[in-house]
Amino acid sequence: METPGSQTSLHRANLERVVRAVRMAGSLTQAEIARSTGLSAATVSNIVRELKEGGTVEVTPTSAGGRRARSVSLSGDAGIVIGVDFGHTHLRVAVGNLAHQVLAEESEPLDVDASSAEGFGRAEQLVNRLIETTGISPGKVIGVGLGVPGPIDVESGTLGSTSILPGWTGINPSEELAGRLGVPVYVDNDANLGALGELVWGSGRGVRDLAYIKVASGVGAGLVIDGHIYRGPGGTAGEIGHITLDESGPVCRCGNRGCLETFAAARYVLPLLQPGHGPDLTMERVVQLAREGDPGCRRVIGDVGRHIGSGVANLCNLLNPSRVVLGGSLAEAGELVLGPIRDSVSRYAIPSAARQLSVLPGALGGRAEVLGALALVLNEMGDSTLLESTLPAATPAFT
Ligand SMILES: [Zn+2]
Repeated sequence: METPGSQTSLHRANLERVVRAVRMAGSLTQAEIARSTGLSAATVSNIVRELKEGGTVEVTPTSAGGRRARSVSLSGDAGIVIGVDFGHTHLRVAVGNLAHQVLAEESEPLDVDASSAEGFGRAEQLVNRLIETTGISPGKVIGVGLGVPGPIDVESGTLGSTSILPGWTGINPSEELAGRLGVPVYVDNDANLGALGELVWGSGRGVRDLAYIKVASGVGAGLVIDGHIYRGPGGTAGEIGHITLDESGPVCRCGNRGCLETFAAARYVLPLLQPGHGPDLTMERVVQLAREGDPGCRRVIGDVGRHIGSGVANLCNLLNPSRVVLGGSLAEAGELVLGPIRDSVSRYAIPSAARQLSVLPGALGGRAEVLGALALVLNEMGDSTLLESTLPAATPAFT
């Protein structure tokens, strides 16, 4: 055991700070590492040299602001992470390394009536097939991130009621998949993973406070506060869809009236347009028609944006994020929906809460959740395994 406060434990803590900074950022210059860890440039330089000699990090020449710099990333072959995402109609798997490179990615359709056993069986096959095609040794896999389209109970780890895969309620998704793959599995809902994906790979790069809004069959938000997903003790943080906008509005599936969801989610919005556009209308089609100039679809998309903006304004007053990223197919509407969101935010949020806010479309589209699942492993994994090659095995203190 190392004595807390000793030189050795201080040194180890500094190594972990540097590894953690690089692990979440993908690659950083030494100056950026110094800024984000608070360590001196000389300390960072020494630590990076030590980590490079141990094979934990790779250092490549780059330029920053026209000056020569050294870019530090985790070694690509230090470990493999896997993302699995069960979505509305698909199963998607991605394989990546610790240097944030996506090595393989594939998706296949999944029926909403599929049993959980069938779903996890298919996931196991797809993971094994991708590992085989990339030629990676299965022993290199450090962990799997798993996205499910519903709430996860923080204490029991079970999936709560979900309208997307109704037969799956009550199962423990991480146990199911870990039993099949034999590696640790970290699980989260689609909104939180979308937030992590955009934070690490997409429109949220470079910020530490972000809200990811996903509008699909419901309206949810993934909240990143100071670089970490905020879940709350029960795992229900981010239920922005149930902010009350109109006390005498339509009855929501949660039992209240006039929730944001009743003004923005597909099941409430589509019936407004179906008389003129037929019963098979989807949100994807509404977005497409709006882009082509259909006045009714434009009006509805604009109204959805205004209502989401009211919710986002409340969120800004409470959390003051620097970025809001809109995900899901609605983001494809671009300025048709983003403009009205910004208008509502500037109308309803306290000016100081909205001043530094940018509202952007997601950059990752339908890949946000599976890339977020990769980021979840990078976020949750400890640094001990990574440091094994750099640090000598700890010697017992009393022998
Ligand atoms: Zn509600």
